[in-house]
Amino acid sequence: MRIAVFSSKNYDRTFLDAAAERTDGRHQFTYLDGRLDKQSALLAKGHDAACAFVNDRLDRQVLGILAGEGVRLIALRSAGFNHVDLEAARKEGLTVARVPAYSPDAVAEHTAALILSLNRKIHKAYARVREGNFALEGLLGFDLRGRTVGIVGTGKIGLCMAGIMKGFGCELIAHDPKPDPQMENLGGRYVDLDELFERSDIISLHCPLTPQTYHLIDHQAIGKMKDGIMLINTSRGGVVDARALIAGLKSGSIGSVGLDVYEEEGDLFFENLSSKMIQDDVFARLLTFPNVLITGHQAFFTREAMTAIAETTIANITSFEENGVALHEVSVEKLA
Ligand code: NAD
Repeated sequence: MRIAVFSSKNYDRTFLDAAAERTDGRHQFTYLDGRLDKQSALLAKGHDAACAFVNDRLDRQVLGILAGEGVRLIALRSAGFNHVDLEAARKEGLTVARVPAYSPDAVAEHTAALILSLNRKIHKAYARVREGNFALEGLLGFDLRGRTVGIVGTGKIGLCMAGIMKGFGCELIAHDPKPDPQMENLGGRYVDLDELFERSDIISLHCPLTPQTYHLIDHQAIGKMKDGIMLINTSRGGVVDARALIAGLKSGSIGSVGLDVYEEEGDLFFENLSSKMIQDDVFARLLTFPNVLITGHQAFFTREAMTAIAETTIANITSFEENGVALHEVSVEKLA
């Protein structure tokens, strides 16, 4: 198959080429730097598949163009598929495949890194020590042991996260419409969302972005949380209302925030914009808080995860070529 790989960076090429070499190397990849949108979709002409990442646009119009150019398969290099109009894909006769699990550990470990860094102010200490400032004022943290961690979404990543936090001696509470007995095996307890907001010292979000979880963390939710709450989001930006976060940070009701995702990250993340002005005033405001730590959607970014993403993407493509069915399809029918 010929595959147009959108939003591809050098690291995507490295891992996809290496995975292709380990299989039979039968597919041809065209690497395109740009994000997939209605203009760049035309570049898929002559390709059987479009391979897309989290900030590519896969709305009705783009899917229509891709189908018109002869694309039959959308191979997502992500687990999340909230950016794909599945109904439109079905109408266009496009198969959509994803990488459902590559390394939940990668994301959970990065989440734990955000918690530890924020709590012990590693980001501040790093800068201070390099400038010869060894003062400890402003670096006071708290013991994790005995703290209550609220996990929203106990799927693959949420469960890994629960295991890590159990290791720190935390009390685990969780919320998920589909409770998993493994959570209880870890000593965790399912509670309703209000109780989770009220009782947690740290809240970590691991649910997908859906109409139900859009702005799950808003003014009202923040109002129910303990003063000084640490809030971590490594799921999808849209789960959190960033304006409500800013209000909570300004009033001091939120103690600290760790974000790997941001609702409007599409115009920012994965690019080096160091010589450009950030136009997003909400994001720029978030960056001004010393108790906010933001990483640019890198939680997945480990060697193991990149290898697994490349291998599963190729397996999806090969299966589609051989059987007309991808290994890990997502469709409106499957979600129903
Ligand atoms: P998963 O499908 O295994 O788990 C998601 C869980 O969320 C499920 O148990 C589901 O029942 C639950 N859920 C659904 N609606 C909910 C709601 N309203 N409230 C609470 N829980 C709800 O997915 P996963 O592999 O654990 O990934 C979780 C999310 O992490 C993904 O959807 C994706 O958005 C995000 N993610 C981020 C990165 C990153 O690099 N930052 C990488 C991979 C995945």
